[in-house]
Amino acid sequence: MIDEKVKKQDKSAEKSKENSPRGGARMVPLCNSLQGELDKPLSARVAQLRQLRNLTLSELSERTNFPISRLEDIETGLETWLSATDRQMLARALAVDPPVLQEVEVKPRLEPSDDPVRYQAILDDITTSILTGARELSCPQCGNTMRCRIQEGLDIDEQPIYFAKAFCQKCPFTLK
Ligand SMILES: [Zn+2]
Repeated sequence: MIDEKVKKQDKSAEKSKENSPRGGARMVPLCNSLQGELDKPLSARVAQLRQLRNLTLSELSERTNFPISRLEDIETGLETWLSATDRQMLARALAVDPPVLQEVEVKPRLEPSDDPVRYQAILDDITTSILTGARELSCPQCGNTMRCRIQEGLDIDEQPIYFAKAFCQKCPFTLK
């Protein structure tokens, strides 16, 4: 009985220990105890969140249906960005909002001619992200921050239709 109580206290002490937000980075609000103490990049953040949630790799694998080897790739930084669907799944398993992962993802810098299929997948992901609320994403060509917005229009049947727009502040990349 007593042992258990001591354990619990230790845990909460550990959580409140590292409370220095780094460089005042913009954080998406999540549970207060986590705010301001999340690691960068994605690899470290996923590992950190997994540990905060007390999940082993195999437990996280069960919750996400990602093979353990893929989770290892993410935690070692071999995989640096996620598709919208995968991001949602991983975020849910770690009990955070998807932007918490997305804000530290790094998209590969790819020319359209290098790999058209993959490039289109990246554009589709950016489009989905913008339409679901992202406003600052990294440019697929240079990695700098892009300005993103939703433009509303009407389709041929006068139904409202939404377009994702993004333009890079450093290079000529635009999504239109
Ligand atoms: Zn750019």
